[in-house]
Amino acid sequence: RRTDTPLLWFDGELASADTLQAPLTTHAMHYGTGVFEGIRSYATRDGAAVFRLPEHLERMRKGAELLGIEFDVQQAFDATLETLRANGHRDAYVRPLTWLGTGADGITVGLDVPGLSQHFMVVTLPTIVHLNGKRARLTVSPWRRNPATSLPPLKLCGAYINSILAKRESRLRGFDEALFVDDEGMVVECTGANVFMVRNGEVTAVEHRDALPGITRDTVIALTGAQSRAVTHHELLDADEVFVCGTAAEVAPICALDRREFGDNPVTRELQALYARVVRGEESSRAAWLTTV
Ligand code: PMP
Repeated sequence: RRTDTPLLWFDGELASADTLQAPLTTHAMHYGTGVFEGIRSYATRDGAAVFRLPEHLERMRKGAELLGIEFDVQQAFDATLETLRANGHRDAYVRPLTWLGTGADGITVGLDVPGLSQHFMVVTLPTIVHLNGKRARLTVSPWRRNPATSLPPLKLCGAYINSILAKRESRLRGFDEALFVDDEGMVVECTGANVFMVRNGEVTAVEHRDALPGITRDTVIALTGAQSRAVTHHELLDADEVFVCGTAAEVAPICALDRREFGDNPVTRELQALYARVVRGEESSRAAWLTTV
């Protein structure tokens, strides 16, 4: 089924996207009280398959728990597959979102406000062009990352204002993406991707408590045996190769960090190719990461 108005999952059933609306008093619109995920499905030899779906939904469950939103992982799992099937999508970006709706005026949520509604939707978007392949230029953000002590690194809607400010500033400065560095000069992450470096052929995953524990990051560590450790801004400038990774970005090489230009990136290129085979089910030893649609 391929039409201009895709079906999306909303509160227990599939509906045409153009028939749905959210009230203006939606709590999440005022306070950012929602949790989302970004998931990919890929065309494989056996049809569409979702990459690391349980891991994404488990991260979403943690975010929902924090906000006191009830979240049924099994239902979200089924809804994701049903939405993909209904739209006939194979290569797709999947966006589940759960949020607080109407029935409360203030910031008190949870048990004190039993009338506050909760919602869950899944939208799937066909992905044709990948960010992948484009060698991005990074600039260090003047904005600090949300510290984990103020906002835990989960996919909480409101928390993404921090990424939006950093991304916007980097674009205004003529770069593609922002790199968050902390007060001590330690690398944190990008606005929607985790950071890696390659030096003397060795792959290192940047570790930081304020960074989202990325599922692609975990995948890349498993594929390369990369060491995970804290990395300074200066070390990154001194690296042979830098790449970022995330569900949407996949494995994306970095061609510059401010005035530092990076040259050839053979290790990143090889990893990009391996990642592409893994997500498309061409590496049988990693088949367990895929859920057939
Ligand atoms: N950091 C941030 C801030 C993100 O939004 C994302 C995208 N979810 C990532 C890292 C990468 O995470 P993942 O590999 O799980 O998509």
